[in-house]
Amino acid sequence: MFTDREKERYERHFSLSGFGMEGQTALRNGSALCVGAGGLGSPAALYLAAAGIGRLGIVDDDTVDLSNLQRQILHDERSIGTPKVQSASQRLTNLNSDVSLEIYRERLEKDNIMALFRRYDLILDGSDNFTTRFLVADAAWLLGKPLVAGAIHQFEGQLTVFDPALHSPCYRCLLPEPPAPGTVPT
Ligand SMILES: [Zn+2]
Repeated sequence: MFTDREKERYERHFSLSGFGMEGQTALRNGSALCVGAGGLGSPAALYLAAAGIGRLGIVDDDTVDLSNLQRQILHDERSIGTPKVQSASQRLTNLNSDVSLEIYRERLEKDNIMALFRRYDLILDGSDNFTTRFLVADAAWLLGKPLVAGAIHQFEGQLTVFDPALHSPCYRCLLPEPPAPGTVPT
C-alpha cells in the first residue's frame, strides 16, 4: 500500500503504462549500490532516489574538489573538501527522505567487496579506473548480481547491463584482462 504522499509523488509512475503500482512496489522493495559518487554515480543515484528506490547504497572514498562540480551534480560549492558520500547523502535525503540511504566512505578491495555486494539486488559501476572495474565486475558476477556498467570518455559513452540470471556474457567476455597501467586514459 502507498501513502497519500507517495501516491502524489509517484503519480506519473502510477499512470505510466508498463510501470504502474506494480513497478513502483518492486522499486520500493529493491536495493541498488552505486560504486562511485562522481560523474556517473551522480545522475544514477539522483534518479534512483527520485524514482523511489527502497534502499540505496553509495560507496566512495574521495572528497569533493572544485573541478568535480562541472559534472558531478550530487555535490555543490558548500561540499568542497568534504567526503563525497557525505554531500551525496545530504542531497539525496533532501530529494527523497523515504529512501533508506547507506553510505560507505571506503575503497572497494578484495576483502570488503563481497560482503557489501551481497546486501544489494543490483550493482551500478560508475568508477573511474580499470582495477576497480574488474574487481566490481568479477564480484558481481560471482554473486550472481546484475551489473549496470557506465563509462564515458570525452564525447563517447557506453552503458552495458551484465546479468547472470539472463545468461548474458560477462565483463571479461568483452574485456578479458585489465589494460596495462598507463596505457589508456581513465
Ligand atoms: Zn564471460
